[in-house]
Amino acid sequence: MDLITIKDKDYKGKKIFLRVDFNVPMDKNQNILDDTRIKAAIDTINYLLNQNSILILASHLGKPKGIIVPSMSLKPIAKRLSEIIKKDIKFAPDCVGPEVKKIVDSSKPGDIILLENLRFHPEEEKNEENFSKQLASLGECYVNDAFGTSHRAHASIVGITNFLTDKAAGLLIEKEIKALNKIIENPEKPFLLILGGAKVADKISMVKNLLPKVDTVITGGIMAYTFIKSNNWEIGNSAVEDKALPIAKEVYKELRRLHLEFHTPLDHIIADKISEDAKYLATERGTIPPGWIGVDIGPQAIEEYTDCIKRAKTIFWNGPMGIIEIEPFAKGSIAIAKAIAESNAYSVIGGGDSIEAVNKAGVADKISHICTGGGASLEFLEGKGLPGINILLK
Ligand code: ADP
Ligand code: MG
Repeated sequence: MDLITIKDKDYKGKKIFLRVDFNVPMDKNQNILDDTRIKAAIDTINYLLNQNSILILASHLGKPKGIIVPSMSLKPIAKRLSEIIKKDIKFAPDCVGPEVKKIVDSSKPGDIILLENLRFHPEEEKNEENFSKQLASLGECYVNDAFGTSHRAHASIVGITNFLTDKAAGLLIEKEIKALNKIIENPEKPFLLILGGAKVADKISMVKNLLPKVDTVITGGIMAYTFIKSNNWEIGNSAVEDKALPIAKEVYKELRRLHLEFHTPLDHIIADKISEDAKYLATERGTIPPGWIGVDIGPQAIEEYTDCIKRAKTIFWNGPMGIIEIEPFAKGSIAIAKAIAESNAYSVIGGGDSIEAVNKAGVADKISHICTGGGASLEFLEGKGLPGINILLK
């Protein structure tokens, strides 16, 4: 896979439409809770600024569904970005229209403009042609560094490139694709796949695509309970994804056909309710007594999984081992994060909640690659390519 990247081009003095992913979590008062995604775009921003270009940054934030929702304005992001890069940012009150055009046209090389939320316009998600053209009219070149949105064929990701044909991927996309390709193209063996969390049905295509390359699979969370239940074992009141049961059965068959090493937890942490003040204990075996809820992997499972991690040379982890939002049920995921950090394997982690576990464990800097886009990374690993990436290939 050969990407056109910004390193292939010369941007001296050019006006660049740069699609970034500034879709950061915010609280009710519009305080940014986590600025990882803003920081992830800084390398590309600095690289392009060093060429004395004019940067027009565009992003979506949240799901305003095509109407102006003041609490989803990108204005607080302009402020944070300005603090991070220590430069003034001009904030445009919209992403298209005469007023925005005026701001762009009055800019000089070295200026940065941040446009208002793309999704305040319904045309963005519809990949509408005229809207794409209006976005394109702002710049002379197009750069996409919004990895986390590149699985969406939206106007600022796909449509715009019909009008701005000078197009390239930014440094973040380049890094993400390199890391994911390393996993699917030529993973060093043994390759360990760690699956947890929820959204089982959504993740199964990725699992199916990776199985032929994988040596070992370990499971936790609702993912594990769905596999366990599909074998008719007792799981008490644990959460399962019923609609995924038939596919879990299919995957089981495939695992056996490929003679893969497959693990569900040897033991569990079970609770009487999902709450901070729940009564909880570890089971002796893999079954869960009636009335109890499996909320995390148990100490024996941690030991066994740590051993699998030690043996691996490549690791991909998606989905926590338990309910990480509740402190006593986050231990399994934190232990897994620490074990990965200590291993010498090439490790990639995708998924917001899995990353949360890595951050809670304080080991983010010891992971080879942390994906900034959960959904995009999973779709890429399904092997279908992403609409926003496919149009940036040489
Ligand atoms: P990621 O964001 O890493 O892709 P998911 O969103 O698929 O992960 O799954 C994370 C969610 O799964 C969390 O909200 C967590 O509480 C939930 N979860 C994990 N294990 C369990 C469990 N045993 N029972 C209920 N919910 C669980
Ligand atoms: Mg999640």
